[in-house]
Parts: sequence; structure tokens; C-alpha cells
Amino acid sequence: MTFGAKLQTARQYINGRWETGVTTGTSENPSDTRDVVAEYARADRNQTELAIRAAAEALPHWSLSTPQRRFDVLDHIGGEILARKSELGYLLAREEGKTLPEAVAEVTRAGQIFKFFAGEALRIPGETLASTRPGVQVDVTREPVGVVGIIAPWNFPFAIPAWKIAPALAYGNSVVFKPAELVPTCGWALAEIISRSGLPAGVFNLVMGSGREVGQALVDSPRVNAISFTGSSATGERILQTAAARRAKVQLEMGGKNPLVVLADADLDQAVDCAVQGAYFSTGQRCTASSRLIVEAGVHDAFVSRLRQRMVNLKIGHALERDTAIGPVVDRSQLEQNLAWMEIARAEGAEHVWGGAMLESATPGHYMSPALFLAKPEHRVAREEIFGPVACVLRADSYEPALALANETPFGLCAGICTASLKNAMHFKRHADVGMTMVNLPTAGVDYHVPFGGRKWSSYGPREQGRYAAEFYTTVKTGYMLA
Ligand code: NAD
Repeated sequence: MTFGAKLQTARQYINGRWETGVTTGTSENPSDTRDVVAEYARADRNQTELAIRAAAEALPHWSLSTPQRRFDVLDHIGGEILARKSELGYLLAREEGKTLPEAVAEVTRAGQIFKFFAGEALRIPGETLASTRPGVQVDVTREPVGVVGIIAPWNFPFAIPAWKIAPALAYGNSVVFKPAELVPTCGWALAEIISRSGLPAGVFNLVMGSGREVGQALVDSPRVNAISFTGSSATGERILQTAAARRAKVQLEMGGKNPLVVLADADLDQAVDCAVQGAYFSTGQRCTASSRLIVEAGVHDAFVSRLRQRMVNLKIGHALERDTAIGPVVDRSQLEQNLAWMEIARAEGAEHVWGGAMLESATPGHYMSPALFLAKPEHRVAREEIFGPVACVLRADSYEPALALANETPFGLCAGICTASLKNAMHFKRHADVGMTMVNLPTAGVDYHVPFGGRKWSSYGPREQGRYAAEFYTTVKTGYMLA
């Protein structure tokens, strides 16, 4: 099967079979809304429950499968994704709107993640310890957590599902995966590859449909032992209430309002690069986006002027065109929200520097110019996640107030600093109240073999990715035996 420019028909994958849905939806290309990417099957609660039952029935057998079997499955999936990265990247750029190079890089990342967790299946950790009692042996082993419900957002439709599905399968769990409604075709393309990897029926299931119905059914079902969710803080909060009340294991990756601190001793060109990359690439639709640029007074005006100059020259356009730097906003409603933020920022008294306008293009799409404001810490534009190509600059007198501003947010995903001072860089790494820090690098852009996640309202539960993923996807058992 190939995923070119033609119209796709995406079906549910339940208990090893492709199924039509209860209703049908369509997904469209945000670069050209005349282009319908797919017609896809939408499930209701009952159909979701069938997928959950299939996963529960497949669990006992798969949970006892050998590490070699799991390695083979995951290695096969990773290999096929990597071999088809151009074609899958094309589909991703067409459906989500990030540029083609960004999309191919994301698909590559998804393949690498499956390869990484193929290896992890062979390295499932355990411990043997000396007992405090004579003649007793103690060991600590890890077992699968059970049926895992995976609920994904639209902004990384290959990489985020990959970093949830791959560890779930590597550690012997069964899966029901629900992609976001805006990107069903990417979810289905991934499922199609997984369906040919040698997994027994029911171990992996795909259900598409609304969050309120399909997502909520996963969160509510007593057969689902764990929920891994990435999305907005509001949805995460609701999921936590329900899932925790029924004692399900929960992992939430949510919003961000990530600071990039620029000190007066920074290499200014490098700092501007970090800001442009972190704030605006992928149309600013990244939880790790640098939406707060906290700049030391001595370089404030020079930084703003160079950043503005770079922004003016960024080509906004069709995601599949060769020279596009920034693709469209993902859909009409997100574009309208972004434009409403322009009004909010102006009404609050934030100073508009550049951008924030809806753009006309050769194709009808959701285009806007990246926006920059000079804001005060109390402005909403400087406090709330916008999830679009919108950033603000906050002035700080020196390093200490810059650090205080960086931490003055309910979010805690990641924080960056641009500086030539080793002392300030080390201090920032230790005192930024976040899960990930970056020095002289954009806040967005991470490795896949180390933990990903944040603090405060950005994340809840064990970290994702790398070997730390075992914390969520396994449960520990302590065994005592009289020798
Ligand atoms: P969203 O919360 O609207 O939706 C995320 C997923 O949850 C979708 O699949 C949706 O259908 C589902 N959902 C919605 N209501 C539900 C419910 N009641 N029960 C169960 N599932 C439900 O988020 P989005 O708009 O798709 O994504 C954007 C958000 O994701 C941003 O806030 C962004 O910061 C966040 N995000 C976070 C990370 C991270 O790792 N921290 C990564 C990417 C995106």
C-alpha cells in the first residue's frame, strides 16, 4: 500500500481485522482545503469497547511472549517506517501541514523509536538482592501493566504515537490507539504497518473518532489498565479525574509556555536562530515551542530588531512546496484562535512588533504570518499557551530576574538559555523548574533515547521515552523465596 496524493479510505483495526465505522469523517489538507486527504471510519463507544475487549483477550498470550518475538515485531515496524519515510512524510505534511523536511524528519524519528524499543525488549530490567533474612532470596521483576489506552494529539501524528505504542508493545502490553481527529490518515498508515508486523490479533487496535466518545470510552473502561495521553491541559485534567478515580495508571503530557532566556553575553545570531526555530518552526504548534523570549536589557533592542528581520524573510506557504519555511496552521478553528490572540494581546497593551495576519496564498489554506509582541509578565499572551506561531519578548534587567520570570508560570516542560557564561548556564540547568533544559539550543528538538516530559501542569506520571518508559509501561513485582 502506498500513501501518495490520492484519496485514502482509512478503517478501524480491531482484533486483527479492518472494520468500517459507525459513521464516516473526512480529513483535509490545511495547505489546500480543496484537497480531501481521506475518508475515515469513526467509532462510537460500542465499537471502542470491542477493541478494548480484543486487547484484553490478547493480553495474556502477548504478555508472556519472548523478548526475541517482540524485538522482531518492533524491528520490522521500525524498518518499514524508515524505508518509506519519504512517502509517509509526504502524507504527514499533506494532512498536518508541517513542511516536508519537518515531516520526513518526524517519520524518521518514529522509525528510530521503534528500533530503539526493539532493543529495549531484550533489556527488560530486573534485580536480585540479598534478603535481610537468612535463607531468603528477593528479586524485583517487571511485568506488563496490561491493556494500554493511547490517546494522541494532532501535532506529531507519527512520532508521539510511536513513542507510546513502541514501549507498550516492547514491555508486553496490548494497545488500543486513538489518533487525533485532524490526522486519522497518519494514525491509520502507522496501524497498517503494525498490522503486517507479525503481532497476534488483538494485541494492537486502532479506533478513530471523537475524543468525547472514543477517548472517553478508553478512559472510562475498567478493562483499560493504563492511559497514556498527550494533548491539552484541559483534556488531561478531565482524563486524570476519571482514570485515577478507577485506579488506572495515568501518564499525561500536556501544554507548555516555554521560556528562552537570552543573556547579554550570548552570541546574538545563535540566539535569534534558537528563537526562530523554537518559536515558529512547525508553525509554533509544538508543546516545546519557545513562546516566551526573556531578553536581558543590554541586548533587548538589538535582539528584537534582528529577530524581526528574520521573521520578515520567512517564507510562509504550502507545506509541500520546496522553499516553504513555515506551513499553514492546522485548521480553521486553530487559525481563528490564533487571530483572536492578536486582539487579546493588543487590548492588553502588548506592543506589536510583527506578523499575526491572515495570509492569502495560491491555494486556499490556513496561513498566517508568525507574530511577535513585546509583553509584560502579567499579559495573558505571556502566560497562556497559544499553540501557534506567536511569541512574546519579556525584558529582564539581569540573569536573576530572567530566571525568576522563566519559572513564573504554571507550566514546566522545558526552558532554554543562550549565554557564553558557564556559571549562568550551570545555574540555570539546576534552577529552571522544568523537565528539560537547553543551553544555546532551541527549546524544541529532543533526542529519543532519554526521558521526555515536564513538571507542574505540563506533565503527570512517569516520563516518556528512553529506558525511563519502563516506569509507565511495566509494573514491578517483588518476589521472596526461601532457598
Ligand atoms: P486535545 O486535548 O484537544 O486532544 C488530544 C487528544 O485527546 C485527541 O486525540 C482528542 O480526541 C482526545 N480527547 C479529547 N477529549 C477527550 C476526552 N474527554 N477523553 C479522552 N480523550 C479526549 O489536544 P490537541 O489539540 O490534539 O493537541 C494540542 C495540545 O497538545 C497542546 O496543548 C499541546 O501543548 C499538547 N501537546 C503536548 C505535548 C507534550 O508532550 N507535553 C506534545 C504535543 C502536544
